[in-house]
Amino acid sequence: MSGLTLPDLAALGVERLRAVGTGKRLESFQRFGITNLHELLAHYPRRWVDRTTEATVEAAADGTDALVVGEIRTVQAPPRRGKAPARVVAVIGDGTGRMSLVFFNQPWRERQLQPGTWVAAFGKVSRFQGAKQMTAPTIDVLGAPDERPRPIVPIYPQSEKIDLPSWVVLRAVEETLTRCRERGFDDPVPMEVRTRLGLISRGEALRRIHLPESMVEKHQARRRLAFDELLRVQLVLVMRKRALERESRGIRHEIDGPLVGRLRAAVPYELTGAQQRAIGEIEHDLAGPHPMHRLLQGDVGAGKTLVAVSAMLTAVQGGHQGALMAPTEVLAEQHATGVRRLLQGVTVPDEGSLFGDRPLRVELLTNRVAGADRRDVLAGLADGSVDIAIGTHALIQEGVEFHSLGVVVVDEQHRFGVEQRAALKAKGEGSVEPDVLVMTATPIPRTAAMTVYGDLDVSVLDELPPGRTPIVTRWANGPLLEEAAWATVRDEVSEGRQAYVVCPLIDESEKLEVASAQETFDRLSNLELKGLRVGLLHGRLPATEKESVMDAFRRGELDVLVATTVIEVGVDVPNATVMVILDADRFGIAQLHQLRGRVGRGQHPSTCWLVTQEMPDGNARVEALVGSTDGFALAEIDLDLRGEGTIMSTAQKGRNDLKLASLRTDRELVGLAREVAFEIVDADPLLAGHPNLLDEVRLLFTADDEAFLFKS
Ligand code: ADP
Ligand code: MG
Repeated sequence: MSGLTLPDLAALGVERLRAVGTGKRLESFQRFGITNLHELLAHYPRRWVDRTTEATVEAAADGTDALVVGEIRTVQAPPRRGKAPARVVAVIGDGTGRMSLVFFNQPWRERQLQPGTWVAAFGKVSRFQGAKQMTAPTIDVLGAPDERPRPIVPIYPQSEKIDLPSWVVLRAVEETLTRCRERGFDDPVPMEVRTRLGLISRGEALRRIHLPESMVEKHQARRRLAFDELLRVQLVLVMRKRALERESRGIRHEIDGPLVGRLRAAVPYELTGAQQRAIGEIEHDLAGPHPMHRLLQGDVGAGKTLVAVSAMLTAVQGGHQGALMAPTEVLAEQHATGVRRLLQGVTVPDEGSLFGDRPLRVELLTNRVAGADRRDVLAGLADGSVDIAIGTHALIQEGVEFHSLGVVVVDEQHRFGVEQRAALKAKGEGSVEPDVLVMTATPIPRTAAMTVYGDLDVSVLDELPPGRTPIVTRWANGPLLEEAAWATVRDEVSEGRQAYVVCPLIDESEKLEVASAQETFDRLSNLELKGLRVGLLHGRLPATEKESVMDAFRRGELDVLVATTVIEVGVDVPNATVMVILDADRFGIAQLHQLRGRVGRGQHPSTCWLVTQEMPDGNARVEALVGSTDGFALAEIDLDLRGEGTIMSTAQKGRNDLKLASLRTDRELVGLAREVAFEIVDADPLLAGHPNLLDEVRLLFTADDEAFLFKS
């Protein structure tokens, strides 16, 4: 008989267990989301207590929070006339000592804590008349009286609202494992992989995660089950990636053409090692038969533009066109200026021309380009005389025809979805899809990138061009230092520099945020920054006014720009050397880092002031910013502080299958799971030879995946 698979277990309801039944217990399990044996076995303990080395009365130190596992020796509830007892005192003992557990106004504790009952008590240890005690500890009943708990006690998640004691879950789990013993569990991961990675079997892991004999067993179990979670996620991503490659035809670009070399000769600096590596990775993709889907991660100022332009020139030198898409019109215009500057003096060999060469034609296309100009650009895109188009999403709208779109660069677009891909496909010649490079200045840790962007390839610019003056970041922790921040602004302005002031972030309401920005603006113009030319920028201003304020700042007609976070992305004014961020503790690490990236863009040294209330306990995020200007290092810290929930849920819409695995602590395992996923999929693209694995992975598929992967 074959072993049990997860779908087998999912088909068996928990009501069939003696430990559950069909009454109130069943309801409690169901309210916890446990309806079948698969869900029960995947309801992992939230912690494991090793009774042999921890959680003893002796080890519980005065004044600390401690966990004690022991047997109730006595319980007393002094009666009161006509009323329930006000105080229950139980004494717990474990062979190393005794301790009192004291409860007020919980008369039912007397029944719960019958002598002989084994419990885990968690609470603050104090001393009363020389003896240790805990007042109102959290109690987990570990077994009925005289049922001695295991050496390692699993403690299951508890909820205030649902009555499902840990020991009840444990009994249900024990019963399940006993019933499954004869048939055993199927292991969908090939033996060869398990041996190579030193993973125990699935069945052994399920037993040891719930009923370990030692902490080592528990670790082995966790590693195996975490691997399974990560492998499932990676299999979905890798199957998607490979299917895309199979299904789509791309252009084999000419990577030996002259233009990329001419670009290199035209720029007045050496490329960084990271830029060279990224360009190499991109060219490798471009030369291949499949369209590229690559993410270029690089901190602010790392030099992504050059890499992007190089990719577009690779298309141009083979007779195709390049396009760069920015999220806003302002950014598109900025890119157009930057790209034109970069391409000054780069010409295209042209045999038809009298002089052998023609200039590159770079055009801007946004909704602001209208009339004859627009017609001219559209005609040029269609007949191929425009080499590089820069714009917003307007570029892939209907009615925009390209002669032969070869490479598309998408800036700051975190998710380049199925729809956009379809629109792009329509822009290609025939059924040929252009190559896509997605650029982001928001570094995310490697493990997270592999998971969130797992269907893309990733290149990283982890090196800044030399000679940058690092931004000095200072924390104004209270009013005295805040005054120093304003002094920096006044000093820099008197030197001819400019400054940004970022207003407090108010999540709940844009209206409040605007009001507070207005208030900040009024105060600063009349007090701290009186006499300076101060402008105000916020999201509620009409677009034209936003533009005119930005333009005035860019031209140096304003000294200080007071703004909400609308300035976060892409604003580039090299003369700005100070940024003051008010209520900095309200922002996340990534956002602070992005904001700070608006300064330090010219040759003058820059300062960023983070202003907060006085904080005796410090603030981990603000301290991280003061300590580092490296976006990748900060992204790692962010992951440590916030956990992976945020990254996963925004990018994967809550489809978070990771219960045990952590992108933070299982970095090695994420990489291994990805490697194994590639091995398996490359040998067996639709998992036809791994039916049990396919059944599990399918649980994570979207309707799109099903349609795309299994269309006949
Ligand atoms: P990003 O888009 O990654 O924020 P940019 O491409 O705008 O960065 O580059 C930032 C600045 O660095 C630009 O002024 C650019 O000219 C300059 N730059 C890019 N690459 C190099 C390099 N290898 N050496 C020196 N300066 C460089
Ligand atoms: Mg290609």
